[in-house]
This record gives sequence, structure tokens and C-alpha cells, in this order.
Amino acid sequence: MKFLILGAGPCGLGAAYHLDKLGHTDWQIFERNDHFGGLSASFLDDKGFTWDIGGHVLFSHYDYFDKAVAGVLGDDYYEHQRESWIRILQTWVPYPFQNNIRYLPDDVLRECVSGLRVLSGHPDTTANFREWMDTVFGGGIVKYFMQPYNRKVWGVPLESMSKSWIAERVSVVDLARVERNIAEGCDDLSWGPNSVFKFPKYGGTGAIYDGIAKPLHDKIFLQHEMSNIDLDQKRVTFTNGRTEQYDVLINTSPLDQFVSKCPAIPDQIASAARKLVHNGGLIAGLGFEGRRDDSKCWMYFPENNSPFYRVTNFHNYSPYNVPDGDTGRYFSLMCETTYSSYKPEDTSRIIETTLTGLVDSGMIDEAQRERIASRYLIDIPYSYPVPTLGRDRELAVIQPYLESRSVYSRGRFGAWKYEAGNMDHSFMQGVEVIDRILKGSEERTLNGAAG
Ligand SMILES: Cc1cc2nc3c(=O)[nH]c(=O)nc-3n(C[C@H](O)[C@H](O)[C@H](O)COP(=O)(O)OP(=O)(O)OC[C@H]3O[C@@H](n4cnc5c(N)ncnc54)[C@H](O)[C@@H]3O)c2cc1C
Repeated sequence: MKFLILGAGPCGLGAAYHLDKLGHTDWQIFERNDHFGGLSASFLDDKGFTWDIGGHVLFSHYDYFDKAVAGVLGDDYYEHQRESWIRILQTWVPYPFQNNIRYLPDDVLRECVSGLRVLSGHPDTTANFREWMDTVFGGGIVKYFMQPYNRKVWGVPLESMSKSWIAERVSVVDLARVERNIAEGCDDLSWGPNSVFKFPKYGGTGAIYDGIAKPLHDKIFLQHEMSNIDLDQKRVTFTNGRTEQYDVLINTSPLDQFVSKCPAIPDQIASAARKLVHNGGLIAGLGFEGRRDDSKCWMYFPENNSPFYRVTNFHNYSPYNVPDGDTGRYFSLMCETTYSSYKPEDTSRIIETTLTGLVDSGMIDEAQRERIASRYLIDIPYSYPVPTLGRDRELAVIQPYLESRSVYSRGRFGAWKYEAGNMDHSFMQGVEVIDRILKGSEERTLNGAAG
């Protein structure tokens, strides 16, 4: 059985890694870029700063993935305790916001608590994400944090989103615990799966995927962009003119783009794929001269005095993210802004608007603004696969059809499931689809039973 894999991101590499472990030799990966890693790649700029495509932190739900990563990194990683904060009303509130509202100004704190005390309705009966958050968090927390922050990240109306993806992604609220935290003045910081995370010592997050690809590289063909699929002939054509046959095709490129490149696909499938919604991201990497003594890992910005929703103190993840590993002389901030048709952004001005946002939100002062050592902009047209109300219905049309044609579409945008779209999930979707095809086992990650 010949496997052809499209894309050398975590999912495609997970599939190849597992095929190799199983001793199945008949496979190839074709990747559009000139590097491995997909959205989890990293780049060294010409000033010596390393950048990820947005703040990537490594945490995992799977032993298999952990072992693969350990095999690559050995001891060359740092382990960090998460320190994430929300910048709001000129103060800092530790994450998760709802558990730490005692940091808010008194009048806002009162509004948030009274919103929690008068909660009504049941989250299970709500129709969409916006209604769900009203029911779970109440008026105050929604007004000051949940609504503006989520609108900034997702870039779509929150009423158009489902609530089915939420499980592990949003910390829900426990009024007694919130009131106890306020009364006793306690911080409540440890929620969630990523309270401790790893980061490679050298080369950013992408070092993991470069390391996984290394022993497999003679079967990975870079700079091969798929342009057409003939589902009847089981043949892929690339923009450089090359063609390849397959028995099984594992696609990890965005599902809507993939379907648009299958000319003979039925209208019903093409139409379902066009309804899938995503946003794009502008990642502004800003390297500065100077030392920054600030132990925070990443910070959320719900307010409209900045374009970005999140900033990472990237020099804290590894000193080697700055030139010569010298955090006494340099620091680096990675700032993420969403764009979409509902939320257009001017790419040509984003570095300047980001710098102004950093000053206006108190992250840097005007003097630091003048001490920039590097500006590095990454534009990702596909950043978050949006869990819209219709998403599962569209996927239920598209995926069975493709599978009936020996095409398995997996990974962050291949499967279009945000809730199973992190690095560990994506890698394991690649692993599990191989086990399903070769051994008939269940795909737990794709079907929501793991992760
Ligand atoms: C801003 C941001 C922050 C994130 N933070 C985290 C985090 O903190 N922790 C975490 O675990 N995950 C994080 N992620 C998610 C992580 O990046 C993804 O889980 C992972 O990269 C998905 O892997 P994948 O292989 O499914 O897809 P991708 O990484 O998108 O790889 C798909 C590959 O397919 C290739 N391709 C596309 N079209 C074609 C074509 N026509 N022909 C050939 N090749 C093609 C692409 O070039 C790409 O290399 C984040 C993602 C973003 C965008």
C-alpha cells in the first residue's frame, strides 16, 4: 500500500514517523514549503532572533508524542511554569481571569461578582458560544473579558460559533471558589493542561519537527505544492509538473483548499467545503535592545487599545531566542493579531500599530520603541479553524466522501477541528490514522475520545 502524505507539519510527520516505526516503507511526503514544521516551524531572522509562528508551548496528552519529542530534544529543552496574565483596565489579572477577578478595580469586581450571582439558564441548552458564555460567566466577566477577548482572537461574530469545542479550552467558573479567592486574597493559577510546558533550548519550536524529519528526509520532498488531485486515477499533480500515484492519500493541507483542487468532486462536497470558516494571523516579532525583567510567559489583551490578542515574552522561553543567547542585551516580544473578513487588518501597518499598542498597553515605553533591533512579520492566511455552528454538519458531508475515495484529511486544517488542533493532537491524528488504515483501530483524537 503506497501512502502519499501532503504536508510536512506535525500531522504529516506524525504519520510518516509512525509508518517508519511500523516498518512500512512505501510512503512519501510532499511539502509546499522549503522547510519542515508547517505552522509549528521556527525562523532565524537576519539579526539573530528566533521566531515561532505565534506563541507555541509544548504540552501533551500522549506518551507516544512525548517519546517522539524526547527522542529529538534529549536534554536540550527548558521546562517552564506557565505565567500568563490578562492586561485590562491598566492592571494585570492572572489567568484564568474568572478565578482571579480580585485584581480588578472595585467597581468592576462588584459588577463581575454580581453577574455570577444572578446566573440563570443552563449552559447545555444554549444555542451558541456567545449564549454559552453569558450563561456560564454572567454579564460582568463577559463584558470586560470573555466577549472582547474572544472577538479579537476569533475575528468572527461569537453567535456564529458553536460551544461544542470548549471542554478543555476555556476554564469555567465556580462561584464559591471565586468568592473564596476574593475573601482570602488568593491567586488561583493552575487551571488547564498547559500549566507546565517545555520549550526547545535551540531553534524554537520548529527544532522538534526538524529533528523528527531528519532521519526521514530522503522520503520528504520539499518545494512540492500539490495543485490537482485526480480522485479516480488516484494521482496528485504538483505545480512543478511532477505527478505521483497513491493507494492512500493523507492530506494535511487546509480541507477547503484541498477540495477545491479536486476538479471532479460532487457539488455537494465542494459547497460544504466552502462553508468552512477560518481566520488569518499576523505574527509580529519585535526584537529590542535592552534587558526585560518580566517573568510572564504570555499575556492576553482583550481591549481595543492594541491590535494584538496575545503577546509572548519569547526571550523567557529560551535565551537562545535572542542573538548570542544574551538576554542581558536583548529581549523579544511576539505579538499575534487576527484578521478576517469581519476584522480586516492593514498588513503594511501592523508593525507600527503593534508598537503603538505595546506602548499604549504599558508593555514598553517610548524610549524602548526607539531601541528596536529587529522587526519580523509572518502572515499566516490559515491560523484558527473556526468551530462554527455548521462545522460538524459540513465535515460529516466531506470526510466520509473523501474516505470513500481513499483520502484521509487530518491535522489542524485537514480535519478542521480546533479542539483537536494543537501540535500533540495533530501529530497523533497522523499516527492514529495510520493505525486505523493498517490495523482497523479507532481514531480517538479525531473523534474526541482523547486529548
Ligand atoms: C498562532 C498559533 C499558535 C499556536 N500555539 C500552539 C501552542 O501553543 N501549542 C500547540 O500545541 N499548538 C499550537 N498551535 C497549533 C500548531 O501550530 C498546529 O497544531 C500544528 O502546526 C498543526 O499541524 P498540521 O500538520 O496539522 O498542520 P500544519 O502545521 O498547517 O502543516 C500543514 C502543512 O501542509 C503544507 N501544505 C499546505 N498546502 C499544501 C499543498 N498544496 N501542497 C503541499 N503541501 C501543502 C503546509 O505548507 C504545511 O507545512 C498554534 C497555531 C497557531 C496558528
